[in-house]
Amino acid sequence: MGNPIVASPLRSSTEPPRPGDDQSRRPGDGEVWHSGDGEPPGPGGAEPAILVRGLHKRYGDVHAVQGLDLEVRRGECYGLLGPNGAGKTTTVEVLEGLTRADDGEVRVLGMTWGQQGKALRRRLGIQLQETRFTEKVRVDETLRLFRSFYPSGPSVEELLDHVQLQEKRRSYVRDLSGGQRQRLSVACALAGNPELLFLDEPTTGLDPQSRRALWEIVESFREAGGTILLTTHFMDEAERLADRVGIMDRGRILEEGSPAELIRGLGGAHVIEFEPSNPVPEEELASLPGVQMVRSRGDTRLLTCRELHRTLPALVTRMAERGGELTSLHTHRATLDDVFLARTGRQLRDD
Ligand code: ATP
Repeated sequence: MGNPIVASPLRSSTEPPRPGDDQSRRPGDGEVWHSGDGEPPGPGGAEPAILVRGLHKRYGDVHAVQGLDLEVRRGECYGLLGPNGAGKTTTVEVLEGLTRADDGEVRVLGMTWGQQGKALRRRLGIQLQETRFTEKVRVDETLRLFRSFYPSGPSVEELLDHVQLQEKRRSYVRDLSGGQRQRLSVACALAGNPELLFLDEPTTGLDPQSRRALWEIVESFREAGGTILLTTHFMDEAERLADRVGIMDRGRILEEGSPAELIRGLGGAHVIEFEPSNPVPEEELASLPGVQMVRSRGDTRLLTCRELHRTLPALVTRMAERGGELTSLHTHRATLDDVFLARTGRQLRDD
């Protein structure tokens, strides 16, 4: 992994201030921030990194965000997990200052976009769902440009090193693979040494190796004390990266907690998924030994259980007693997808 300075949102840059740099407005180490000083406390301050109350956003007839409440603590990676159209991007765009809320309170790093937008922008790193770079510009030139937008931050070499694009420094953007482009866009988001990083579906469309590479960059930023708001519709991504997850659907957060807590809430670590040849009443399935929850998805039945070795034989025996059989059978460890299914009756992803 690259130089940790790149991903350290807590360390101040060693670079001298640039002309136009207004860092002098910020109280120094150990100084007390008073409202009216221009900016609220930095990392470690009492305010959460993100505080949202009653957020609403409509696009014509579409009520994309419907009274969303959200609190992201400093230093945590919070994952907004939900299917397409749940309102994740809209929520993040409001937090990033790209879209105005119709209603509700939004505070980011203790500030509001309306009053402290310029100061706020400098302390955020934003990776959009799709970033359009100029194709005929080289990788290091792109980073130099993004770096010039901020008064302080890591050097271009440090950024290249951190996202492992050193060998591509002189390549044109048009020649990068999908994974390399995503890493470039994360490097651009890190160019101002942000305290809070927004990542909107950062690994959609990437191969497994590129996904893992990106996860490592995110983890190192988080380990260095940075705060992350991540949107994803990949449960494995949320499970790996997020300290807490908000499961979002139809413009609201339905459930929130650590991935382990949410999965524990299902009452069992295993899921048996099967299709019976003859219908079996849910009550009968629920009475099998060790079954915690019974759900249906079309003709498929899903049993959540604690001990697979007790429930599975009992299920097979019961089906035989009824003169039927299991036309399909799978088992898996319970995931956030099961949490979503239990809550909505739908899956996060169809594929
Ligand atoms: P995805 O994973 O597909 O990006 P999402 O959870 O991020 O989904 P949003 O992109 O926030 O969801 O979309 C929420 C709803 O708002 C959807 O119904 C979408 O079609 C609608 N929407 C989003 N942006 C606009 C827009 N600019 N104009 C009109 N409708 C929009």
